[in-house]
Amino acid sequence: MEKGKFGTVNRRQFIRGLGLGAGLLTIGKIDMAQAALLPKAKRSEKFNVVVIGTGLAGMAAANAAQNAGAKVAVLEKMGEKGVGGNSALAGGLIAIPRDGSREAKEEYFEDFMKKSSGKGNAVLSRVLAEQSLDAVEWLKSLGAELTAPITVAGYRVKCVIFKPGAYKGMPKGLETLRANLTKKGGKIIYETKAKQLIMNEYGAVVGVRAEDAAGLKDYLGDAVIIASGGYGGNREMLETFVDPNADDMMVRGVKTATGDGLNMAREAGAMWVNMGGMASVHVAAVSAKNTAAGNPFMAVAYTLGINKEGKRYVDESLGYVANGKASMKQPVQTVALIFDEEIKKQPGVAASVKQFEGLGIDIVSADTISELATKIGVSATALDKTIADFNAAVKDGKALDAQPAKAAFAYKIEKPKFYAFYPLSPGITLTFGGIKTTEKAQAQEADGKVISGLYASGECAGGLYYEDYIGGASLANCLVMGRIAGQQAAAVKGSEKKNKAKKG
Ligand SMILES: Cc1cc2nc3c(=O)[nH]c(=O)nc-3n(C[C@H](O)[C@H](O)[C@H](O)COP(=O)(O)OP(=O)(O)OC[C@H]3O[C@@H](n4cnc5c(N)ncnc54)[C@H](O)[C@@H]3O)c2cc1C
Repeated sequence: MEKGKFGTVNRRQFIRGLGLGAGLLTIGKIDMAQAALLPKAKRSEKFNVVVIGTGLAGMAAANAAQNAGAKVAVLEKMGEKGVGGNSALAGGLIAIPRDGSREAKEEYFEDFMKKSSGKGNAVLSRVLAEQSLDAVEWLKSLGAELTAPITVAGYRVKCVIFKPGAYKGMPKGLETLRANLTKKGGKIIYETKAKQLIMNEYGAVVGVRAEDAAGLKDYLGDAVIIASGGYGGNREMLETFVDPNADDMMVRGVKTATGDGLNMAREAGAMWVNMGGMASVHVAAVSAKNTAAGNPFMAVAYTLGINKEGKRYVDESLGYVANGKASMKQPVQTVALIFDEEIKKQPGVAASVKQFEGLGIDIVSADTISELATKIGVSATALDKTIADFNAAVKDGKALDAQPAKAAFAYKIEKPKFYAFYPLSPGITLTFGGIKTTEKAQAQEADGKVISGLYASGECAGGLYYEDYIGGASLANCLVMGRIAGQQAAAVKGSEKKNKAKKG
């Protein structure tokens, strides 16, 4: 918010008031690609591989590089208390094929492509389908503890979760990976913000210029891995690339996810992919009481989404991202997910109820539909009609004649008590756009040429998803592509850097 002589206005109102919206947004884009050049640092230190970020992608990359014999440094702009970025507050679900069979891997690949409307990166989706099971075993070999695979309604893929379970296990899992790294000599350097990539005369990346309390320091390496997360905490980028109104949306993740790595890579010539509009973000309808963990994602498919007019607004069987995006278009952006005593027994619903209870977030309950309507602030007549129409349309687990149709998981709402996750409002979970990479995690220029010595993995790398997303896919991406980036980066030798300016 900016305060001026006209009172308090937010940046969007300010821009609109000037009638300059589009122009300023364009200027913003140009400015982001042009950073001031920093002077050469007086201090420097040499490693084989320099990693930016201590989230799951950074930790997977650093451990893999170290296991391959590299001397590794990880730069983290936060202090030890703020370590781990969005990975530290994630649900902890990692998407894997249901087993190691060819058929299961094909299903995983197909589900990824289907969820991203066929516009996700097929090459990277294939890598995840082939390698995520193995990567999970590798993670366990590093000491991380994971649950047995669970099913999330609507997906053929399964998910393992960092123990003890959803929204609880990530800090411990990441701590294990940090301990594993440092025990073997790897360095994590806190309160050190990567500012710029250092390039040699052949256009290869040979280090990172970073800033700490004492000023600038150059961390030189044969290769650099950007694993600095997304841009959900960068209001300017959200407003510019996602939607002029996106600066008003709740952001579920850390404010420090400011797209630093995307901007550094772009200055070094890398291309960005999937940076346009709402297809480039993940949105979930969550409780404002806990925007991170107050997400009944496992329940969505079984419930009925109800807006403030007492009407349904989405095919709930499409899952929690489709619901989240649809919730943005509903009156006052507030919705309820309703269910009855029978539906409450479904494992996904029971798990979400338990999750909310554990967080101390009330679940609305009522003996009658009218009472439920009153408690969720909608007309009882409207809600009665919506439920009656829906119940009449339920046939063989579908409600194809309902408005809107529900393609699966359709159960009649008829057995008291009646319940609602309410109020829920849309929040951005993660950003889908980012640095274009190859299947070896090499950063690429617009013409496909790889930037020698530069790798990107995790949320900062873009294009894997488009519009929607499979739950657990981002941590699977961090793990698989982080590990690949680490292995690849460790194999780069200083002497090879001179002739690396070739097509990838
Ligand atoms: C509430 C919530 C729940 C989620 N649940 C799941 C889930 O269950 N499953 C799933 O697959 N995905 C989930 N996601 C998405 C997933 O957590 C993220 O996409 C993923 O953790 C990103 O990991 P990362 O390693 O790429 O980046 P991050 O984990 O964000 O780590 C990036 C790190 O880089 C550091 N950094 C940034 N810039 C610099 C710089 N200039 N210099 C030095 N350091 C820097 C940051 O401080 C941070 O520590 C969830 C997201 C949220 C917000």
